[in-house]
This record gives sequence, structure tokens and C-alpha cells, in this order.
Amino acid sequence: MGRPKEMMIGFQIEVTGYEGDEGRLDMYTGRDIAPGYFAWAIPSGDSTRIGTWSRADLLNGFSCEDLIDRLKSKKLWNHRFENITEIGRFVGPVPSGFVKKPMIERVALFGDAAGVCKPTTGGGIGPGFNQVDLLVPILSKSIINNDLSDIKMKKHSKLLKSMISDQKRKKGLRDAFLSESNDDELNEIFSVWSRPEVIELINEVGEIENPIPLGIRMLKEIPEFRKLAGKAAKALIWG
Ligand SMILES: Cc1cc2nc3c(=O)[nH]c(=O)nc-3n(C[C@H](O)[C@H](O)[C@H](O)COP(=O)(O)OP(=O)(O)OC[C@H]3O[C@@H](n4cnc5c(N)ncnc54)[C@H](O)[C@@H]3O)c2cc1C
Repeated sequence: MGRPKEMMIGFQIEVTGYEGDEGRLDMYTGRDIAPGYFAWAIPSGDSTRIGTWSRADLLNGFSCEDLIDRLKSKKLWNHRFENITEIGRFVGPVPSGFVKKPMIERVALFGDAAGVCKPTTGGGIGPGFNQVDLLVPILSKSIINNDLSDIKMKKHSKLLKSMISDQKRKKGLRDAFLSESNDDELNEIFSVWSRPEVIELINEVGEIENPIPLGIRMLKEIPEFRKLAGKAAKALIWG
């Protein structure tokens, strides 16, 4: 049925004692910490979830655990990690990019198996449920009618078209802003993002579930980002 287009590895530790601002998510990026992607520290009640995700071919033989160790030891922010105690760890694949044939005779792939994770955040739970909502009504009818032929399943899989295209467009934006940028370019991008007028735009249009409107406004309205527009254009137009 094909393979997910991108296979990332996610590695997350749950800790107490992380020193971040209350209620605020910290994001980190750079070649040493999360090549092509990013690392995070998310407050979660009394604890904090610290994680990173990347692709095996970008790790240069190192492991995701090495990336977390590097994150913890960076001089710029190592004070935040000085008093942490690990209370749990989670690791697994993050498959993103729908497989070629998510539905064939009598078989339908859902969630990670189909490659639904979001290319921008790695989140797979929301899109997995969206896929279920999209397909279950029609699939239930087919099960009742015992009509799960290859032709029927192929027809049902057309319902996924907008999800597939949305995923490609998000990947195009992510590649342009993050995955295809080196550390110097990332520094440049982040210094533009931290300008007051850009923060205003992010607060106005930004939405984690749907980053496309914000991405398009940034590419159009912020002169420094126009050069990125070429990189993202193909995915945004043809996605
Ligand atoms: C470190 C990390 C952090 C993440 N954080 C988030 C997050 O914050 N938000 C978010 O939305 N997503 C997150 N994700 C992604 C999310 O966890 C997955 O997308 C989601 O769990 C996928 O659900 P699933 O049901 O499709 O697959 P899975 O959760 O993998 O479930 C598949 C199940 O099938 C079982 N199984 C496999 N083979 C067989 C077999 N032959 N017979 C019977 N059972 C079998 C497996 O044991 C497993 O229980 C994260 C992933 C990682 C790795």
C-alpha cells in the first residue's frame, strides 16, 4: 500500500524541575538539537514534557537521546535544565505523508499506519480522528452491504483528497521556513519573527492547527521572507 513519505523519530522525556515561564511553551531548533525540525518544552501540570523530533538520515549517526543531551547542555539556556528529574520517557516513529494506497480491497489504513501525522508539529491524534470522521460513515455502509471491493475502496479513498493536499501544503511551508534552512538562515528567520509587527501578525492570523493562512501572509507581506516564497510555491499551488 506504500510507505509514509517522511518517517521522523519523536523522543520525549517528562521531567519535574524545568525552569520555564509558567504556561509558556519553549521551542528550540538548530542542527545540534533537532536537525531539520525542532525541540520543545511544554508545561504539563506539575511536570514538563521535553522532546525533539528529526529524521534518521539527518542525525549523522547520533540518537535522539544525544539531541536531548545537547539541548540540556547548551550554554545559552542550560540553567533551565539544571534541576530536572526525569519521570518518564516516550519514543516512537512519527509518520507523515499519506501512503500511496491507504485503502485497498477489504483493508483501510488509519492514523500512523496511513501516515497522517502533521508535518508542522508531528501531531497525529487530531488528524487520525479527522480521518476516522471522514471515512467511517461511508465505510460502515460498505461493511453492511459487504461491498469492500478494490474499486469501492479506491472511490472512498477520494474523500481523503483534501487531507492529503492540506498535508502537502503544510509540509511545503515547513520545509521553506525550517527544514531546508541552515542555522544562519534560522537565526535570520527567528530575528524577523521576533519583530513587533510580525508578532502582531502571528497573534492575529496564527493558528497551530492551520498554519497555512499565516504562512501565506508572511511570504507575501514580509520582504525578508519573499525569497522563501519560491521554495514553498510548488507545494502551496499544487499541493
Ligand atoms: C514522542 C512522541 C510524542 C508525540 N506527541 C504527540 C502530541 O503531543 N500530540 C499528538 O497529536 N501526537 C503526538 N504524537 C504522535 C501520536 O502519538 C501518534 O500519531 C498516535 O499515537 C497514532 O495513533 P495510532 O492509533 O494511529 O497508532 P498507535 O498509537 O501506534 O497505535 C497502534 C496500536 O496497534 C498496536 N499494534 C501494532 N501491530 C499490531 C498487531 N499486529 N496486532 C495488534 N495490535 C498491533 C500497537 O501496539 C499500538 O498500540 C507523538 C509521537 C511521539 C513518538
